[in-house]
Amino acid sequence: MTVQRSKIYTQAAEISGLMGLSAAEEASLQSILDVFPMAIPQYYLSLIDWDDPDDPIRRMCIPSLTETDISGDFDTSGEADNTVVTGLQHKYQQTALILSTNRCAMYCRHCFRKRLVGSNEEEIADNFDAMLAYIKAHPEITNILVSGGDSLLLSNATLEKYLRELTALPQLDFIRFGSRVPVVYPERVLQDEELQAIFAKYAQHKQIYLVTQFNHPRELTTEAKAVVKTFIQAGVMLRNQTVLLRGVNDDPQVLSQLLRGLTAVGVAPYYIFQCRPVRGVKAQFQVPLPKGLEIVELAKGGQNGVGKCLRYCMSTPRGKVEIVGKLPDNRMLFKYNQAKSAADAGRIFVAEVQPDQCWLELSCDD
Ligand code: SF4
Repeated sequence: MTVQRSKIYTQAAEISGLMGLSAAEEASLQSILDVFPMAIPQYYLSLIDWDDPDDPIRRMCIPSLTETDISGDFDTSGEADNTVVTGLQHKYQQTALILSTNRCAMYCRHCFRKRLVGSNEEEIADNFDAMLAYIKAHPEITNILVSGGDSLLLSNATLEKYLRELTALPQLDFIRFGSRVPVVYPERVLQDEELQAIFAKYAQHKQIYLVTQFNHPRELTTEAKAVVKTFIQAGVMLRNQTVLLRGVNDDPQVLSQLLRGLTAVGVAPYYIFQCRPVRGVKAQFQVPLPKGLEIVELAKGGQNGVGKCLRYCMSTPRGKVEIVGKLPDNRMLFKYNQAKSAADAGRIFVAEVQPDQCWLELSCDD
């Protein structure tokens, strides 16, 4: 398959014609981009249905004017508190997370790391040896998640360095790479045989997972499926994390179709995440928790066992909390799927949740 490398659109003037914007609207859009940058690969832009002003693909990549609503927070899961070396977070005992880059092929409008993608480099890993030393000094760490930004935007040389050094650590069971490249910029993989060979080489030494983020069935294109197949053939396993997003996938049929499509191509869906109350995101994309649970349960109803394995969770400063069920009154049932403190591990609790409530405040000080 030949896929041309995409032009990446970053300026309002480049898309205002497609959107039919007036000069004033173009200026408003550009003023948003000056705060929260835009990047849309030509490939992803081509998936938009321009006849539909509420097109879900468009919602994920083109800013809405309501992005100027800056209610919410920037760091909703306490990432600053978990940083042990610049770019290395150690929140859960067995897992370390590396912020490997602040670059992405596309800057998703719903991104929970909006505070850094495409702009701030302060939190990004800048000393690999210091991170490695920390990991070696903490044998309880048994897996690494290389995140960002988008880890597949690292150069091949840097990716190979990560893989060479990390696959050589006996304490690690597996390594995960978080990336939306298969969804938004498939040519990064399909046109780069060197990249494919690097993953194939190190997958022989240690299990590697690629954690993708498909949010809508229309993202499962021929090209995206070809990327999935390429990684599977290289010996890499794929998992998907979907973010539940208003106006994108907050419909049981859409979500069900996405989950079925993913399992059909060998990508096991393992989390559906509640969209976080992030500044510039919360007002546009969050779905209330009771409604979210209903959507997820209905979507799960249409799946086989593989599709049903997923968990509907939210990442809070205290841990990853599964949204388990609704009680007959205004209360909901939750469970710590991952906990920062051992005392919370596996803990089930009940909390009152209003019908329009989209988040649960669970700070480490509670
Ligand atoms: S690819 Fe991931 S890190 Fe980058 S903008 Fe999208 S959601 Fe955020």
